[in-house]
Amino acid sequence: MTAEPVLVIGAGVQGLTCGVVLAEAGWDVRVRTADRPRETTSAAAGAMWGPAQLRPADRVLYWVTRAHAEFLALARDESSGVHLATGRMAARFDLGEAVPTEARLIPDLRRCTPEELPEGFVSGYRGTLPLIDMPRYLDHLVARFLDAGGDLQRSPVQTLADAAAEASTVVNCTGVGARELVGDPGVQPVRGQGVVVRNPGIDEYFMELTDSADFAAYMPHGDHVVLGGIAEGQEWKLDVRPEVSAGIRRRCAAIEPRLAEAEVLDEKVGLRPWRESVRLEVERYEGARIIHNYGHGGSGVALSWGCAFEVADLVAG
Ligand SMILES: Cc1cc2nc3c(=O)[nH]c(=O)nc-3n(C[C@H](O)[C@H](O)[C@H](O)COP(=O)(O)OP(=O)(O)OC[C@H]3O[C@@H](n4cnc5c(N)ncnc54)[C@H](O)[C@@H]3O)c2cc1C
Repeated sequence: MTAEPVLVIGAGVQGLTCGVVLAEAGWDVRVRTADRPRETTSAAAGAMWGPAQLRPADRVLYWVTRAHAEFLALARDESSGVHLATGRMAARFDLGEAVPTEARLIPDLRRCTPEELPEGFVSGYRGTLPLIDMPRYLDHLVARFLDAGGDLQRSPVQTLADAAAEASTVVNCTGVGARELVGDPGVQPVRGQGVVVRNPGIDEYFMELTDSADFAAYMPHGDHVVLGGIAEGQEWKLDVRPEVSAGIRRRCAAIEPRLAEAEVLDEKVGLRPWRESVRLEVERYEGARIIHNYGHGGSGVALSWGCAFEVADLVAG
C-alpha cells in the first residue's frame, strides 16, 4: 500500500471511522479537527443503528447495511461501547404494513402486540439492534486509529485551499462545519439535546417514530441511559436548555416510570448535519482530490462504516 498521505478533516464518527478504515488499510493518515471527539455532535448522539430515511436511498441502503455488519462484530467486544439490545420502535399513528428495506436486517423484528405499546401509541415494532455508547465508542475509534499509526491533531482547517496545499487527497467529514468550509448552504443544523441518567435497571431501548420536533427515546448503556429527544431546525446554539431537558424527562417517564426519578449525570447538545442528500463524492480542487463525506442528518452513526468503506474505495481510486 502506498504511503501517500491522506488528510481527514473532522473527528466525529464519520472522520474517525474513515481514519480507522484508511489507516488500517495502510494509508498514512492525519486527522485534523476543530473539536475534541467527545465535544462533537457525534458524542451527543443516543445512539442506535437503525433504518435511515435519507437520500440517495439506494446508496443509503448500502451504507446502512455495511455498517450493520460492522456494529454486529463490534458488539462482541464489550470495550467498544457497542452492544445489542432489544426494544420497541413505536408511533402514535398507524405505521401500516410497509417497513424500510434495511429493517429486514433486524433478525427478530415483529409487530408489537397492543399490550406491548405504551399509552397513546397505536403501532410499533419490536426487535434487536446495535446500541452505541458514543463517548466510549469515539474513544475506541481514536485508540484504533492511533494503533494503526494515525496522527490526530486538534487544529481547525481554515479553508479548503489550505487543506489542498497540505495533502493531495483530503476527506472532508466536517458535519455542520461543511456549510462554512465548503460554502454549502444546503447544510442545515438540526439541534438535538439529550439527558444522561443513572440506569435504574433498564435494558431495553425505546424510540418514538414521528415527524414531530419533540419525541421520546431512551437507550440504555450499562450504568447509564441516554434520553431524548428533540429536533429543532435552523438552530445553531449549543446551550443546554432546562425546559427542553424537563420535556424529554417527562415524555420518557410517561413510557418508563423508572426514569422519572433517575439521577441526572449529564446533558448534551449536538447539531445534526441535515442536507437534502448525503454528499459523498470527489471534487477536484486546486490540484487535490477532496472527497466530501457530510450531511448525514440524524443517521451519521448508522451509516458510518458504509460511508467509510466507500471513501476508502475512492481514496484508492
Ligand atoms: C441528540 C442526537 C441524537 C442522535 N442520535 C443518533 C442515532 O441514534 N443514530 C445515528 O445514526 N445518528 C444519530 N444522531 C446523528 C449523528 O450524531 C450525526 O449524524 C453524526 O454525529 C454526524 O457525524 P459527523 O462526523 O459527520 O459530524 P460531527 O460529529 O459534527 O463531527 C464533525 C467534525 O468536524 C470538525 N470540523 C468542522 N469544521 C472543521 C474545520 N473547519 N476544521 C477542522 N475540523 C472541523 C468538528 O470539530 C468535528 O470533529 C444524533 C444526533 C443528535 C444531536
